Amino acid sequence: MSKKKGNIEVQSENIFDIIKRFLYSDQEIFLRELVSNAVDAIHKLQTLSRKGEFDGKLENPLVEIKLDTDKKTLTISDNGIGMTEDEVRKYLNQIAVSGAKEFMTKYEGSNIIGNFGLGFYSSFMVADKVEVNTKSYKKDAEPVLWSCEGSPETVITKGTRKEHGTDITLFISEDSKEFLQKDRIEGLLNKYDKFLPVKIKFGTKTITEYEGEGDDKKEIKKEVDNIINEMDAIWMKNPNDLKDEDYIAFYNYLYPMSQPPMFWIHLNIDYPFNLRGVLYFPKLTNNIELERNKIQLYSNQVYVTDEVKDIVPEFLTLLHGVIDSPDIPLNVSRSYLQSDSNVRKITGYITKKVAEKLNDLFVDERASFEEKWDDISLFVKYGMITDEKFYKKAVKFFLLKNTDGKYFTLEEYQEKFKANQTNKDDKMVILYTNHVDAHTHKVSLAKERGYDVVVFDHPIDNHLMQQLETKESGIQFARIDSDTLDNLIEKEENKESVLSEKEQEKVKELFQEVIGESQGTLMLKPMATDEPPVTIVRPESLRRMQEMQMMQSPGGMNFDFYNIVVNSNHPLIAKLLKKRGDNKKAFAKYLYDLALLSHGMLKGDAMTEFINNSIEFLGGEK
Ligand code: ADP
Repeated sequence: MSKKKGNIEVQSENIFDIIKRFLYSDQEIFLRELVSNAVDAIHKLQTLSRKGEFDGKLENPLVEIKLDTDKKTLTISDNGIGMTEDEVRKYLNQIAVSGAKEFMTKYEGSNIIGNFGLGFYSSFMVADKVEVNTKSYKKDAEPVLWSCEGSPETVITKGTRKEHGTDITLFISEDSKEFLQKDRIEGLLNKYDKFLPVKIKFGTKTITEYEGEGDDKKEIKKEVDNIINEMDAIWMKNPNDLKDEDYIAFYNYLYPMSQPPMFWIHLNIDYPFNLRGVLYFPKLTNNIELERNKIQLYSNQVYVTDEVKDIVPEFLTLLHGVIDSPDIPLNVSRSYLQSDSNVRKITGYITKKVAEKLNDLFVDERASFEEKWDDISLFVKYGMITDEKFYKKAVKFFLLKNTDGKYFTLEEYQEKFKANQTNKDDKMVILYTNHVDAHTHKVSLAKERGYDVVVFDHPIDNHLMQQLETKESGIQFARIDSDTLDNLIEKEENKESVLSEKEQEKVKELFQEVIGESQGTLMLKPMATDEPPVTIVRPESLRRMQEMQMMQSPGGMNFDFYNIVVNSNHPLIAKLLKKRGDNKKAFAKYLYDLALLSHGMLKGDAMTEFINNSIEFLGGEK
């Protein structure tokens, strides 16, 4: 074959300028593109072989990456389909000019993920010269050497390959020297190509083996091929062929040193889009932000990104694992991604699958679901708040946990406690505590009345309650300290006071004096005798409003407002009225301090004073 010159067919602008200008920030993707092409070439040959259109053998399909630091070259070789001279002309000389132009006008300035049909040419981002040494699988095909030095001019001569396949050699440019470092290349192969379905070899590595026993034990060092992709892409396998151990091993491979996952979902869909993947529910640690963005996105087993915010609904970014879809457009800006109908369908599908999996667990393995609830409740609640469709499914398996550590669905809970906890407006009042330790006294009083109390102790619970109150009819939440027991679940009209008007005035005056300038407002109410003599309450709606405000502007004023409610029907109040002189005030103060104490509000000097007074009160010495 004589030396022939050709031209890369570009119209207006030099393609290399375009490539360099637009892809500069993402230079490293050239390797991913070239390795993907090599894998494709092998796949094509395997397909032909299956169809009986290839007579030879493809016993050891292999992509090999070689670094030559002396010659400053990086070579990507495959034993795939190869190219004839005509094909070289067709595929390598005719760059998709239209593609390049379209790209320029459409996506200028946008955040490109890569892959827009200029795969092979991305090599010019890092190379001054590229040589393609190739031989087609076709019978009697001549080897061809194509070379191009970064200008539109190309040269085609006789190649040197003896077997079918292709070597692509990049003469790495001075300003891309980093790609001549072994570690850098290995890092890239590990990042992008760890799960490719064809063996990827990069040099050799030394392994240590042991022979013999005891004193005869010998250490033997061996040089073996360094294979990048030793782990199978388990998401591409049939779930029926996989055991729990396989999923756990894969998880450990992806996230070494992590706690084992709680459970997982194998995603598998062919229509109306293609999607494979395994999503794991991790055991969350306290630092939730560290757990975010650990889902990796692949396209045909090639790593693309771990920025999956637009593909996975926000509440599921806490999951870990892999999603693989050739249908997710990888080449476009984020705003485009959000409006893409395929992406929206994928998001919907993932949400649906996650809801189904949770529902299955709930139905089939209730005990284990309850055991896991504390770890998964955050996903579920977050999902219910942010995703209407998820809410509809999750409201059936979402669990309420009571202060005895028992779990109920909302429906079960209503069934069990409705009769006793319905107020005069026919609303079922669900009592909750955000702080079991601080509310023990209140909780035990409520239980004496046969009321149940659930635990809602995460900031997200405020939002969830709001949602449940608007979406589910006939329920209302009240924090255990938001009112007196009588009023929490108000069943009847006010009680009569056993005190006369004058006595009531006197009691009020006394307590006002004791309370002084506190932030609380004093109220006197005739209540049942199982209510404490003095109670502190924080009205539900006001408190929720304040909490919402605090979430929006965390630096704002946190004003602790509460009411101090004196039970005028309590026998101790009648006793108080009978006390004389200083004793009267001391007794009122004692009752007030007890109320503060039971709400965890008695601190510092006030606490010391209370203890000293108590000792004195009991007849001891201070
Ligand atoms: P794409 O891979 O998106 O088609 P490329 O510019 O990367 O675009 O490659 C253009 C064409 O060159 C490929 O479609 C393929 O036909 C051919 N090609 C590239 N690399 C190889 C290879 N290693 N072996 C055989 N053919 C190749």
